[in-house]
Amino acid sequence: MNTHQAKAIGERISWKQLIALEPRLLELYREAKATRDDKGKSSFCANHAWYGRRGHEGFKHRMCELIGYSRKDDPVLGSKFAYDVAYHTIYNALPDCRNCICFDARGFLEATGRLESKRRTGTR
Ligand SMILES: [Zn+2]
Repeated sequence: MNTHQAKAIGERISWKQLIALEPRLLELYREAKATRDDKGKSSFCANHAWYGRRGHEGFKHRMCELIGYSRKDDPVLGSKFAYDVAYHTIYNALPDCRNCICFDARGFLEATGRLESKRRTGTR
């Protein structure tokens, strides 16, 4: 497979194909899925969990080691499309925000492009 062919595959890759290429993505997904919104606490923020703030280890930087520009060894895993697929799949596995500051500020921040949209998929 040459680089051009691999890039073309990267543009229509599915999550299933991605985790076959990089099983550590699945581990990260399972970890995100296992993340619980502790109702004993006053709030939960998916973005804190994702970016790694306020006692959360953070998923994004760990994902970035597995996929995207850091993966110069693999043109499929290194593609922007593959990165986006992994990003949305793992991010959406996290619980939704509850009573956090971005919950209130979301409309403004999303409109200005400063916050990832935490949308409900309804399928998981
Ligand atoms: Zn939040």
